[in-house]
Amino acid sequence: MSTTTAAAGNAARDLGGRVAIVTGSTSGIGLGIAEALAARGAAVMLNGFGDAGAIEALCQRLRAEHGVPVGYHGADMSQPEQIEAMVAQAAAQFGPVDILVSNAGIQHVAAIEEFPPAKWDAIIAINLSAVFHATRAVLAGMKARRWGRIVNIASAHGLIGSPFKGAYVAAKHGVVGFTKVTALEAAEFGVTCNAVCPGYVWTPLVAGQVAAQAAAHGLSEEEVTRKVFLAEQPSRRFAEVSEVAAAVTYLCSAGAGSVTGVALPVDGGWTAH
Ligand code: NAD
Repeated sequence: MSTTTAAAGNAARDLGGRVAIVTGSTSGIGLGIAEALAARGAAVMLNGFGDAGAIEALCQRLRAEHGVPVGYHGADMSQPEQIEAMVAQAAAQFGPVDILVSNAGIQHVAAIEEFPPAKWDAIIAINLSAVFHATRAVLAGMKARRWGRIVNIASAHGLIGSPFKGAYVAAKHGVVGFTKVTALEAAEFGVTCNAVCPGYVWTPLVAGQVAAQAAAHGLSEEEVTRKVFLAEQPSRRFAEVSEVAAAVTYLCSAGAGSVTGVALPVDGGWTAH
């Protein structure tokens, strides 16, 4: 049993009967969030790339462990019409969408002069524009039913910059801004919208960056982890996927009904500098 499951297993199933979509949930943080929402009783539509057999096995495991409906839609989050199709399939399979967690994201690290324009476009499409398209597809229904929870996984890089991450920092700052606008437009309708801003969390996305930076700096992966990554994070450890998931389940809970428009760091103190 994962630590996420163990921690969430004691929580009330306060999201029973709710329908959630978590984008980018075949891996890393999104998978942890999907597990935590399932543990709280929500039906979950998974999304993301990966091996079809492994994804089917994941769906079966979550159904068996949490006793909730779990489905999968392979929408490419850079394609607006596929995002609409995913929301429609979730509604057809489980009922109208109550909870949207926009989590899918990619990274590319390069100096501005060397940044490939195609990578810029892909990061803006997947990390930022997809948040708009998914929100647009669910918001009218949430407002009509007078309940909804939208959580956007931004980043510490939604609040501060770092060199060589131009597209990612621009997209994540955009996500924080769009979160505030969504919160303001939805506030009267029982719908909240918040951003969660993780610092470094150990996932395949960060493992790839550690390997790339180690090669670029001519350092070992251990050295680059200590000198480049955790040097930023005052806790001197990676945040846990389960800690990000716990922030999301809190924001989806009844008790967070008046929390809206915030950008909540889960970053071991990084943005307190
Ligand atoms: P990850 O690479 O482990 O997972 C990313 C997920 O997104 C995967 O399921 C992948 O299949 C999916 N995905 C990628 N492109 C997609 C596309 N075009 N359409 C649909 N799905 C797509 O990454 P992660 O570290 O878990 O990151 C998840 C989110 O958290 C991202 O938005 C990332 O920017 C953010 N974040 C991560 C960290 C960190 O340290 N890991 C820190 C701050 C913010």
